[in-house]
Amino acid sequence: MRIVIANWKMNLLSKDVEAFCAACVAGYKGKAGVEAGIAAPFIYLKDVKTKLGTCGVKVFAQNAYFEAKGAFTGEISMAQLKDIGCDGVLLGHSERRHIFGETNTNLVKKIKAAREAGLLPVLCIGETLEERDGGKMFDVLREQLAVLKETGPGPLVVAYEPVWAIGTGRVATVDQVREVHAFVAEELVKNGAAGTPIQYGGSVTPENFAEIIQVPHVAGGLVGGAALVPEKFLKLVEQAQA
Ligand code: PEP
Repeated sequence: MRIVIANWKMNLLSKDVEAFCAACVAGYKGKAGVEAGIAAPFIYLKDVKTKLGTCGVKVFAQNAYFEAKGAFTGEISMAQLKDIGCDGVLLGHSERRHIFGETNTNLVKKIKAAREAGLLPVLCIGETLEERDGGKMFDVLREQLAVLKETGPGPLVVAYEPVWAIGTGRVATVDQVREVHAFVAEELVKNGAAGTPIQYGGSVTPENFAEIIQVPHVAGGLVGGAALVPEKFLKLVEQAQA
């Protein structure tokens, strides 16, 4: 399976959400084996779900908490996401790890909780430039993927997003993508998650994605900036379908 997800992050307002969803309803043509999704801010999820209707584009949250319910002010549970029609949830995005202190320990609990609620977890991994330049890239990725030993098998998508490529305009080269995706695919086998789709993320645009999607073990994209524009998002989905 291939899957392209638009990560809106903390962007867009109601009127933009409406226009984006209308463009998807008008322009999205599904194809077997390729999924498309929108990871929207919590407050717009229900709206996005309703506005997308039956067009086939899936709805993802950008994070959630692992506890089922209770005194966790400001948090959202997996069951609540499922309740409003969410299909999946991004977990461990680099902005969550680096700005908000997300840990691998919590991610084990979050992946399990997402699966229990019937949501597809998208585990985001990636090294910083310092880690890459310091020769620690494979260790970092190995450790981030090792959470899967503790979660056990289940539905999953992995997004490889080099931190230095996110929102920077500096996309990884095809050779870098090839090297890391092959490594991630091997680690997934070792962790009992063989065959998990691996997205690439980091300054993806319709100009560079056609080449990236052809790289072995690349099964789609997680896209920020470019996917704030519906025409570009739909173009990326088409490229994954080609
Ligand atoms: C992202 O949000 O995960 C991302 C990769 O952002 P961008 O495409 O803007 O680099």
